[in-house]
Amino acid sequence: MHQAETAPRYRAITRSNIAKRPEWEALDPGLREAIEAVSLVLPFRTNDYLVEQLIDWADPVADPIFQLTFPQRGMLDDRQYIRVRDAIRRDAPKQELEQIAGEIRAELNPHPAGQMTHNVPHVDGEPIPGMQHKYRETTLFFPSHGQTCHAYCTFCFRWAQFVGDEDLKFANKEADQLARYLRKHPEVSDVLFTGGDPMIMKTKVFRRYVEQILSIDSVRTIRIGTKSLAYWPQRFVTDADADDMLRLFEEIVGSGKHLAIMAHTSHPVELSTGIAGEAVKRVRSTGANIRMQSPVIRHVNDDAATWSDMWATGVQMGMIPYYMFVERDTGAKAYFEMPLVRCWNLFRNAYQHVSGMARTVRGPSMSCFPGKCHVLGITEIGNEQAFVLEFLQARQPDLVRRPFFAKYDPKATWYDQLEPFGKADEPFFVKPDDRPTADLTIEGFGSN
Ligand SMILES: *Cc1c(COP(=O)(O)O)cnc(C)c1O
Ligand code: SF4
Repeated sequence: MHQAETAPRYRAITRSNIAKRPEWEALDPGLREAIEAVSLVLPFRTNDYLVEQLIDWADPVADPIFQLTFPQRGMLDDRQYIRVRDAIRRDAPKQELEQIAGEIRAELNPHPAGQMTHNVPHVDGEPIPGMQHKYRETTLFFPSHGQTCHAYCTFCFRWAQFVGDEDLKFANKEADQLARYLRKHPEVSDVLFTGGDPMIMKTKVFRRYVEQILSIDSVRTIRIGTKSLAYWPQRFVTDADADDMLRLFEEIVGSGKHLAIMAHTSHPVELSTGIAGEAVKRVRSTGANIRMQSPVIRHVNDDAATWSDMWATGVQMGMIPYYMFVERDTGAKAYFEMPLVRCWNLFRNAYQHVSGMARTVRGPSMSCFPGKCHVLGITEIGNEQAFVLEFLQARQPDLVRRPFFAKYDPKATWYDQLEPFGKADEPFFVKPDDRPTADLTIEGFGSN
């Protein structure tokens, strides 16, 4: 059916081999220097498909996929940038370069990865480090074999949060723990496989994680958070085990569960290639649904037409618009973030231009400590402006879907910068210090 010898092989492009690409020579020297400097500090990974088929090299700075996968000068502040750039210019020894990079990284990511090692769910007295259970109905599961991606999004720090165990036996152990936990927690109807990107796994590895769950009746939906339809659609079309993955999807659907592919889609260009269209078609043919979600990111998708086009195109292809997220408050956020009021204006402008079929989408939404906080808009109370907010998800289920208000702040970019509008709004401003139970939040995630 698909000829192995003509199938494109996945090849990563990283700091160590980018200079061999023909695109590199043609790139402006200033851009080249910025890529070299910033990628010393922050992870850089793209691939042949993105570079050859999605990026328009006529004007890379204006290109969303270039911004999404290539390190940018603005991701470091001037002091940090000059420090690392000058060290490279004077050919500093490798050890010194690494020390500088390490120091800047520490400045950029104030939330330590240790978040993942404490307060994790337990089963039979044993911690399950690859799991997070924040909202009653849904558990997140991070298979240790799925802790990388086909390319790295510049805004995301998720890749660095985990060190996966490569041992296949470990996959079995994790799968056992997950199944045991789910049997003890029948309130969990949804299991969301996330990462990294679970679709980085070979089918036979992913199968180990999924198989045991199929016989647990309380689990109704299996979700897979993935960027692979955008970053490597070949995963579902021409990869050696593409058909095996589709067969596994069919088995999941055949077991009577809903299979939802939570597709991280940042821009309509990701849906524009023949291979992406083919991948969507093949995945849908298994009975799986594909839902679309992404953060709104400056330089990548910060205009309404991009979003309305993406939702309308997705619907046409049979996908379901699901969430627009606000970029998280971590990492190189200064380069990517936008005021909440701008995110809201962008959302409603896009929403107004699509039919009801695409209005299944909700947003802009912040995944913050107490829950998923939905920015409904700006209103006036008395003579004062206020944000109208609600929780779409909350640690305290009772807070969900109750409108509340925050003082208007045109500069605010995140929930923790907001203040209750009045006394009645105070219960909605839950701080980690007030935590009644263990903190299961993991900071710095992307959005697969
Ligand atoms: C977003 C999210 C979920 C899933 O929420 P839905 O609204 O059901 O899509 C589950 N757990 C965590 C921690 C989340 O951030
Ligand atoms: S946002 Fe998703 S695909 Fe992008 S780097 Fe982060 S985990 Fe990987």
